[in-house]
Amino acid sequence: MRMEDTDYERLVSSLTPRGSANGVRTYQNTVSVACPACETPFDDLVVCEEEYNSLELSLMLDLCVTTHDDEVLLFTHKQD
Ligand SMILES: [Zn+2]
Repeated sequence: MRMEDTDYERLVSSLTPRGSANGVRTYQNTVSVACPACETPFDDLVVCEEEYNSLELSLMLDLCVTTHDDEVLLFTHKQD
């Protein structure tokens, strides 16, 4: 699965940037955009720009994954 440029740009423009570190950019979904994978609103979008990235998760999260160009996009869903 691979996102189209127009879908990606529309998605990211709706989200609030929360900064980047170690090749990982984070965006917060403050407007309840639906996840493109599971179609329920996600909490954060994490974009991995490097060939290898490590994520340290502080919560139990459900993750949905897609790609755009060479980036990996993770959509996080907090578990209830
Ligand atoms: Zn999802």
